[in-house]
Amino acid sequence: MKYEIVVYPDDRLKLISSPVEKIDNDLIDMINEMFRVMYESDGCGLAGVQIGVLQRLFVMEIKGKKYVMINPEILERSKDYSIAEEGCLSLPGIGAEVKRSKKVTVKYTDIDGKEKILKATGLLAICIQHEYDHLDGKVFIDHLPASEKINVLRDYRKQHNL
Ligand code: ZN
Repeated sequence: MKYEIVVYPDDRLKLISSPVEKIDNDLIDMINEMFRVMYESDGCGLAGVQIGVLQRLFVMEIKGKKYVMINPEILERSKDYSIAEEGCLSLPGIGAEVKRSKKVTVKYTDIDGKEKILKATGLLAICIQHEYDHLDGKVFIDHLPASEKINVLRDYRKQHNL
């Protein structure tokens, strides 16, 4: 199957994804496709919904390390924040500074079906929060103050002739 990136303002990006029920060959094939699509587009993370698969999983590559997080759950978000520029393969051409927790603890199932707990900081923590949002129908611009969101979206629409 050939997957394409779902781009804003596609309504699917607003939907809540369902838990992955089993890790089988079809799912593994799809995960490989997700990495392919992500690399092809020069991204560092991709959630299922971004290729139109409404299942709770995402893939990432951060500092040369690959991650597959199935049914992730963010157990803890630090109260201290960092602000960093983000972009998204589903909103090509725009970026904005987003405030996120500096540290998160995430529980997830890996591709071998093992449950893992990871404490993440820095870019990894940002990426986990960004991808996790996709599973709940949110995109990074939803974190911006209303006036800034309007400006960013105006720019986006102009770029894409929407
Ligand atoms: Zn994204």
